[in-house]
Amino acid sequence: MITRSPALLQRHDEAEPLALPPAWQAQLAGAIRDPAELCRRLGLDPAWRPGAEAGHGLFEVRVPEAFLARMRPGDPTDPLLRQVLPLGEELLPTPGYVADPLEEAAHTPAKGLIHKYRGRVLLITSPACAVNCRYCFRRHFPYAENAPSRAQWESSLDHLRRDPTIVEAILSGGDPLAASDRQLAWLVERLAAIPHLRRLRIHTRLPVMIPDRIDAALLDWLGSTRLQKVVVLHINHAQEIDDAVIDACARLRAAGVTLLNQSVLLRGVNDSVDALAALSERLFEAGVLPYYLHVLDPVAGAAHFDVPDEEARELVAGLREVLPGFLMPRLVREIPGEGSKTPL
Ligand SMILES: *Cc1c(COP(=O)(O)O)cnc(C)c1O
Ligand code: SF4
Repeated sequence: MITRSPALLQRHDEAEPLALPPAWQAQLAGAIRDPAELCRRLGLDPAWRPGAEAGHGLFEVRVPEAFLARMRPGDPTDPLLRQVLPLGEELLPTPGYVADPLEEAAHTPAKGLIHKYRGRVLLITSPACAVNCRYCFRRHFPYAENAPSRAQWESSLDHLRRDPTIVEAILSGGDPLAASDRQLAWLVERLAAIPHLRRLRIHTRLPVMIPDRIDAALLDWLGSTRLQKVVVLHINHAQEIDDAVIDACARLRAAGVTLLNQSVLLRGVNDSVDALAALSERLFEAGVLPYYLHVLDPVAGAAHFDVPDEEARELVAGLREVLPGFLMPRLVREIPGEGSKTPL
């Protein structure tokens, strides 16, 4: 239930009806942004504070309450916490780990648009994320320069209109679902008007971070578009999937969405056959099929998450012995200049 402040109620009674901001936006705005608070809330030993503050200086902390609630208090090795807690290690320069490991800067024909693969175009739809993942390959991405404006949308849309080989628009980010439903409805309506476009794909972590994001306003524009719909979630550990996430997935499926998941293989998070098998099983309980298991992109500040290729292959071989084929993610790497993700 939403509680309204008296001030809001008063304004609501005036001539212009004032729409309340949706519940998810308040949760987004209320995410933890202070490394000391993150440590305190989880009851971590004060020894973790200096590293958290130092890493935060490079890439700020952001953790929504709904995600925090799924972590084990007092456990610095918690697989969810490890994805979001800054560590002093992030400051160690590591050879081969760079700011733009995928060389995306070279593939932006219009600002906010990345066209690297045939048939598919990626639109940076929102610069914001619901969570800041420490291993993110876009942790150094100049989002401020790529924050979309209407004029920018128009030039991205023109690029899509002019190229009939493009059949799929991928909304990415940041997190595209951090944009408002009004903006998203505007964009998707224009995409659907491009005759050669068949599919709308959304790469998002929001249904996992803030399951309330999948509300009536979102289901309205998403459920009504003529485009075929795919939502690729990003979940790295079974513990991320609680009942609220399962319910959000059910709402998306009821709107005609095919649900897939991509994960990143991360040291200390999911680098065991047991963890990966439990993730696939849990995803299927939520009606989600595993899609990709990415090896870490060599982004500066994330080297401590790396799992060497040889070990990654062994893990996947072990996984194949315990899972049915349809629950096997494809182990891939992104190599700049290649026309697709590269299977390992
Ligand atoms: C990963 C990616 C895609 C989508 O690739 P699929 O193999 O179709 O999932 C599209 N464009 C860019 C720039 C990408 O990085
Ligand atoms: S949600 Fe995705 S884009 Fe955002 S920080 Fe995490 S990995 Fe990066």
